[in-house]
Amino acid sequence: MKKGKIYVVGFGPGDYEHITKRAVDALQESEYIIGYKTYVELIAHLVTAKSIVSTGMTEEVSRAQEAVRQAELGNIVSVISSGDAGVYGMAGLVYEVLIELGWTQDTGIEVEVVPGISAINSCASLLGAPVMHDSCTISLSDHLTPWTVIEKRIEAAAMADFVIAFYNPKSGRRTRQIVEAQRILLQYRSPATPVGLVKSAFREKQHIVMTTLAEMLNHEIGMLTTVVIGNSSTFFYDNKMITPRGYQRKYTLGEEKQPLKPHQRLKKEAEPWALDQETGYAKSGFEKIVVKKKTNESPLELANEALALVGGQRNEPSKGQTLAKPIVQQKIESIFEIGVSPGVANKFFTPEQMRTLADVIGENGTMEYTPDHKIHLKIPTENPLEIIGILENVGFLLAPTGDYLNLKACDFCYGEKTDAIPYAEALQRDLGGMKLPKELHIGFNGCGMACYRAVFDDIGIVYRKKKFDLFIGAKPVGRTAHAAQPVAEGIEPEALVPLVTRIIEEYKENAHPNERLFKYFKRVKRILNYDYQDMSCKIEVEPAPCGD
Ligand code: SAH
Repeated sequence: MKKGKIYVVGFGPGDYEHITKRAVDALQESEYIIGYKTYVELIAHLVTAKSIVSTGMTEEVSRAQEAVRQAELGNIVSVISSGDAGVYGMAGLVYEVLIELGWTQDTGIEVEVVPGISAINSCASLLGAPVMHDSCTISLSDHLTPWTVIEKRIEAAAMADFVIAFYNPKSGRRTRQIVEAQRILLQYRSPATPVGLVKSAFREKQHIVMTTLAEMLNHEIGMLTTVVIGNSSTFFYDNKMITPRGYQRKYTLGEEKQPLKPHQRLKKEAEPWALDQETGYAKSGFEKIVVKKKTNESPLELANEALALVGGQRNEPSKGQTLAKPIVQQKIESIFEIGVSPGVANKFFTPEQMRTLADVIGENGTMEYTPDHKIHLKIPTENPLEIIGILENVGFLLAPTGDYLNLKACDFCYGEKTDAIPYAEALQRDLGGMKLPKELHIGFNGCGMACYRAVFDDIGIVYRKKKFDLFIGAKPVGRTAHAAQPVAEGIEPEALVPLVTRIIEEYKENAHPNERLFKYFKRVKRILNYDYQDMSCKIEVEPAPCGD
């Protein structure tokens, strides 16, 4: 006899575009399609099955039993679920029926679960990107699950700042559950928390509402709605609900938020909340909160202690008493990054400037001296404009960090060299802080000594005999570092700023993202009318003798 097979097919949200190819193939191969009648109608146009068994909503067990019976008779059967069949769908039920009959994979009929796009994913895509971070689904149906268990899950998810997708939020007879869920959530999350309501995603009567935790019950919620609750950092932007990927964003002067570079990730400085690789303890923000397990404490006492710590309070609950629940405050921490120096041609800090620096970084910021003569500040703040104002007030020159143009000039040690200072200042004024494909440093030196090492910068400018020499394309770092190529000598002072501007414009326009000036010069072989020459010197290195 022909061996039967059961496909348990998730057909996605309900339109043809979002069903997988495997699901369509399975449906077309099947002789029997078994499912809830609304769903069978949704996919009817896709199938050629000789028999379609549609049943009512609550007859799930008989649906699964019928599927098994038909498969055991040698038929190929598809049991269908909307979304994914393994998410509050038919997959588990089919296995339960089979197991009851003593089924095993080796001896019994073949079973294949075909995955589909679940409501959490289809609804999220219509809302924007609300899921993104750790999330969970909770079904509010207490038809097969005790409400006390559901309540605990809502509370745990609320407390742990999960993004939550509520399935089965409400039906004609079940109306209290979503009200209770909101009440529990409000104990832990702000009333302004973004909430998305999606009804009938990718179906004819699709309806999307953006609301808040406080307001959500003022809108229609029904059997076909999925309710997506944001976490404490979810926000609305242009009618989209978005959860950022993490809890911290970095930004600098005139720049949107910047992502961390790979080498900065999970480092104490950049991600202070990560699990410390050495101690194994989590660092909580900038505070030190370490919960050590004392063996004589009960789990309840430990949990209460942890809650009290998170809430910033240390109540001692008496027996049977529970602690006030803290609102989860895991706000995004914005770190403002900026480089400061005393000026283009000035290397002296005033006491007032030093005091101001200490004030603006406060207890939680950092300042770091950099190789390009700046102090790099990282300041946790929501108000960068205020910081900028304070720093400018005491005469600091401010520079963004990252892929920007930076100018570094010597301090023009002797009087007669100071003729060049206005040109350095003009370059800073016109080009300083310009966004470029990659960081670019201009070194500006007042004499042929070039002690500020202009010839080791992306662009080097050296003032000599009242004219300028120009160098392009040093490779300042790495084992194959090399000086910049001298491209022009004796440039008239008035011609300098327009010439450098044209070089920068050409590079900005044509370089690939992340392509530093020396790489660009090497690739295109010509900048303005300057031809590229290879400045790297290749030295054959003798291998070290054995034993050294
Ligand atoms: N297996 C399904 C879930 C079945 S439970 C899946 O993976 O998506 C039924 C609940 O799913 C509904 O109450 C609703 O909350 C959600 N749901 C299913 N399809 C949906 C759709 N197209 N739009 C919005 N919500 C949907």
